[in-house]
Amino acid sequence: MTIHRINETLYAVESESTDRSYTVNVQAQSCSCPDATFRNRACKHVAAVQEFAAAMPQPTAYEKAMEKARKLSTEKLTSSLDLYPDGPVAGAIRIELARRKLAEQRQSALRAVFA
Ligand SMILES: [Zn+2]
Repeated sequence: MTIHRINETLYAVESESTDRSYTVNVQAQSCSCPDATFRNRACKHVAAVQEFAAAMPQPTAYEKAMEKARKLSTEKLTSSLDLYPDGPVAGAIRIELARRKLAEQRQSALRAVFA
């Protein structure tokens, strides 16, 4: 069974017996296959997607924000703090700014030693 992640809740599951593909909502535990739709019972696709999603943990809001913060310029990060004063985005921005400041300080300390 081949599973493709569409977004946080939706997955596409390719059927093994036909060339069809079913949509599973892992949050609602629903599936578009005939088994789930007409017989109204838990199908093997939902079970497979639950196993798949559990094996591949999704990044938290904070981890997503950290990943994005690393790619932005210091100017952009500083101006974004006004838009996101708190929450995971602000936390990620503050940590990234602090990391850059520390790296800068280390660089200038090294330059001072080897100058
Ligand atoms: Zn199904």
